[in-house]
Amino acid sequence: PTSPPSGAPSGEPGRDGRPQPKPVLSVRNLAKAFGSNVVLRDIDLDVRRGNVVALIGPSGSGKTTVLRSLNGLETPDAGTVTFADTATGKDLALNFSAKVAKKDISDLRDRSAMVFQHYNLFPHMTVLQNVIEGPVQVQKRKRAEAVAEAEKLLARVGMAEKRDAYPFELSGGQQQRVGIVRALALKPQLLLFDEPTSALDPELVGDVLGVIQELAEEGWTMVIVTHELAFARQVADEVIFMDGGVVVERGPAAEVLRAPRQERTRQFVRRLL
Ligand code: ADP
Repeated sequence: PTSPPSGAPSGEPGRDGRPQPKPVLSVRNLAKAFGSNVVLRDIDLDVRRGNVVALIGPSGSGKTTVLRSLNGLETPDAGTVTFADTATGKDLALNFSAKVAKKDISDLRDRSAMVFQHYNLFPHMTVLQNVIEGPVQVQKRKRAEAVAEAEKLLARVGMAEKRDAYPFELSGGQQQRVGIVRALALKPQLLLFDEPTSALDPELVGDVLGVIQELAEEGWTMVIVTHELAFARQVADEVIFMDGGVVVERGPAAEVLRAPRQERTRQFVRRLL
């Protein structure tokens, strides 16, 4: 029931010679400062359909700001974000070095859905209301359909019985599973996870990572900011190590996490793995 939207044209061959799907998302030279604090410089990122990209790096290195820029929650100062539109073949291209139209930001926002560190559920709404809010209010889908889909999604993460509960009645792990369902219900082309397990008690982390891993196996396209390096090694196709607002190293998960080339990456990975 949660198959990702499909239909990717093939692009250029990858390193193993097999054709790689064209990137769903391409970011070039993204830059952002808060006042005089430059937090992102020259960030490039490609995410191919069905791939998982993990953003890792020390606290304050700019990972969350990258993620929020992809979802229109931050406006970069410069750089481009391009979303391939496989349905129409007409890409959505935003150039932040020039003035970006409000409509383009809102289109960008519609392409992806974010799962937040602190779940960000609406506290005054039940689980079900949280899940159908976006589909019904924003996407104008029929309420009955949205409810039926929400129930299916909740069942698949073991939350069917909690549909009428309020967030405060749930554990952190349960709230995050609802956070994930709420993102899936929007049927986005891209799922963004911002440290989805770092607010959870250790014994609840595994459940939530398990759900994310299943989504990866189903072929969802995702960008995940995480400190869980063992998890990143398991699910990510590409790992990007950031420090001080720049990409220090990137590559296949096994290479970056097992045999990093840069000293800074090596130190970081050694401490966490
Ligand atoms: P990370 O996710 O790697 O921990 P962030 O992207 O959250 O890093 O933060 C990068 C830098 O940007 C930090 O120095 C942080 O203080 C700063 N920053 C993030 N958001 C804001 C904001 N809204 N206003 C001012 N500074 C911010």
